[in-house]
Amino acid sequence: VPVLAIVGRPNVGKSTLVNRILGRREAVVQDIPGVTRDRVAYDALWAGKRFTVLDTGGWEPGLEGLPGAIAAQAEYAMQHADAVVVVVDATVGATTTDEAVAKVLRRSKQPVILVANKVDDDRLLADTAALWSLGLGEPFPVSALHGRNSGDLLDAILKALPETPRERFGAVGGPRRVALVGKPNVGKSSLMNRLTGENRSVVDSVAGTTVDPVDSLVELDDQLWRFVDTAGLRKRVNFASGTEYYASLRTKAAIESAEVAIVLLDAAEPIAEQDLRVLTMVVESGRACVLAFNKWDLVDEDRRNQLEKELDRGLVRVPWAERVNVSALTGRAVRKLAPALRNALESWDTRISTGQLNSWLADLIAATPPPVRGGKQPKILFATQAQTRPPTFVLFTSGFLEAGYRRFIERKLREQFGFTGSPVRISVRVRE
Ligand code: GDP
Repeated sequence: VPVLAIVGRPNVGKSTLVNRILGRREAVVQDIPGVTRDRVAYDALWAGKRFTVLDTGGWEPGLEGLPGAIAAQAEYAMQHADAVVVVVDATVGATTTDEAVAKVLRRSKQPVILVANKVDDDRLLADTAALWSLGLGEPFPVSALHGRNSGDLLDAILKALPETPRERFGAVGGPRRVALVGKPNVGKSSLMNRLTGENRSVVDSVAGTTVDPVDSLVELDDQLWRFVDTAGLRKRVNFASGTEYYASLRTKAAIESAEVAIVLLDAAEPIAEQDLRVLTMVVESGRACVLAFNKWDLVDEDRRNQLEKELDRGLVRVPWAERVNVSALTGRAVRKLAPALRNALESWDTRISTGQLNSWLADLIAATPPPVRGGKQPKILFATQAQTRPPTFVLFTSGFLEAGYRRFIERKLREQFGFTGSPVRISVRVRE
């Protein structure tokens, strides 16, 4: 079902509005991945349509206080909901916090409905007009408390919510999605055959037509996995048939429809430019990643030493990825893929609470402050994890942070919280 997020600063009447939307039914807290106590989701029903209401209230103001916390809340809503309702208090008008939120939401690709709350009678309609200044379109006057106009608002919400919600990986359960990628002849088909061949409980032919099934369901380690876009692999058609350009498009599509990629490399040969291109695609897509070095049966002492050197030189630019040495031919260590996939996905799904993050960050900054730039010491005011899958952190600062210092923060984040097998993204918002 589509998700509607409600954002706004405290005391504008968000909770009252949420109750109004829920029709005062017993609120059912939904189990949505990534939804913790500070983001609560409820089932809602209006005019026969179901949707989920995500109440993003209750973010603890961090080091920087309210505007940062609420802007982060808006950021989260924008990235996770199908439509956003932003609530302001018409009796107060647009505050600087409201403006900070509006600034974030003006970038939203999802529809945004600006609700002017506490319009208990017509005399307040004039004040409502002033809220056009937020640049979020026409303010929608309601009184959440008295129910004034709330039916019209619900109609407008239903109109704004799309028929088909954005895809939310894993939100409905189901097997997790894996892409098996790598350059031609690295052994993808062989490994796929090994994985399906060893398992009697494999369910084949899913998702596509019966003629050309796209995905394969594979049971590994007592868990069902969906290997995406395996049609070519299972038919033993070379993945790279056609031009290299076409092969790379197909690899990209497979990665993007997956949650985690197994990047297969040929352990018997030097790491090649083509391997790095595939790895770059995975990192840029933000998917979790497991490195599998195939053809380990061909690796002798010399090659093994050489490979370690290649890895030490940082040739494979994903030091955070777990590495498994396998042989599709002999079946060596193929069993180790499932735990590695699980670890990577766990990192990918990880959410660090805002409180935990900021107290860790405060200690880190105290010990190693950001370098001074142009005579000024940039301050990191507040941090929040805006997203999972992959973990994405937003730092609100008072000035530019050098790339080196961002990398330092990422390194320390990984030291503290792990994230094996998952990319970590850090974005910096400089507040003017
Ligand atoms: P794909 O293009 O990535 O699907 O690669 P294939 O699965 O078609 O394998 C390419 C070649 O490598 C074939 O000749 C396979 O028999 C061989 N091969 C695949 N895996 C292994 C392995 O673990 N060890 C050895 N020695 N050869 C392998």
